[in-house]
Amino acid sequence: MTPVYKRILLKLSGEALMGEESSNGYEPMNHAIIAQYAREIKAVTEAGVEVALVIGGGNIYRGMNEAETGIERAHGDYMGMLATVINGMAVQAALERDGVFTRLQSAIKMEQIAEPYIRRRAIRHLEKHRVVIFGAGTGNPYFTTDTAGSLRAIEIKADVILKGTRVDGIYTADPEKDPGATKFETITFRECINKNLKVMDMTAFTLCMENNLPIIVFDMNKPGNLMRVVMGEQVGTLVK
Ligand code: UDP
Repeated sequence: MTPVYKRILLKLSGEALMGEESSNGYEPMNHAIIAQYAREIKAVTEAGVEVALVIGGGNIYRGMNEAETGIERAHGDYMGMLATVINGMAVQAALERDGVFTRLQSAIKMEQIAEPYIRRRAIRHLEKHRVVIFGAGTGNPYFTTDTAGSLRAIEIKADVILKGTRVDGIYTADPEKDPGATKFETITFRECINKNLKVMDMTAFTLCMENNLPIIVFDMNKPGNLMRVVMGEQVGTLVK
C-alpha cells in the first residue's frame, strides 16, 4: 500500500503525553505513551511519509491563567512555549532511540539544544526523511500550538494537518456529555463555522481554511491509527 499523503504535520497536545495521576498530582510525561507515539511515527516514516511534528505544552504550562497565577499573560505564554521545547526533546529522544533521524527546530533561539526555525532547512530535512519537530510554538505570545501547527504545515506545504486527540473525530455534540452525538466523516470548514463546532481555536482554524489545508481530527491513542490515516482509510473526521 502507498500512503495518500507525501508530507504530513502531526499536532499532538501536551496533554497527550501526560502520565497517570498519582499522590503527587499528574506526572507531566508518560514515557511509555511517548515511546508508543514514536513507534507509530517511525512506522509512517518507513512507509515513505515525510513527518513534521508540533507538540503542545499544556501538560507542563499554559500561559492563559493570569488571574490565577499573577503571571502576566505574555510572560506566561513564553513559559508555555518553553514547555513545548521540553516535550519536543522528550519525543525527539524516543524517536532517536528507535533509530529515526530527527531535528528539533525552535521558534525561540536556544542554540545548545535546537536549530533555529529556518523554513528552507526544515524542508530539506523532510526531503531527507528526517522527522522535524517544531518547538516553541510560533515564537509569539497570544498564540497556541494549534496555530503553530497550522502555520508550519502551510509553510512546509504539508498535504494535511493531523490533529491527534483523545476523541476520534468531530461530533455533532460533545460525545462525553451527549450519548446521542454522532460523528462526521467529512465536514467543510464552512459547516464547522455554521454549526459552531470547535476543531481548533479560530486563529488556527482560519489559517487552515484560508490556505486550503485539510485537517484530520483522529484518536492518536488507538494503535495503528496514524498509519490508517496516512493510508487514506476512513479514520476520524476530515475537514476540508
Ligand atoms: N504558546 C504561545 N505561543 C505559541 C504557542 C504556544 O504563547 O505560538 C503558549 C501558550 O501559553 C500556550 C502554551 O504555550 O498555552 C502551551 O501551548 P498549547 O496550550 O497550545 O498546548 P496544548 O494545549 O496543545 O498542550
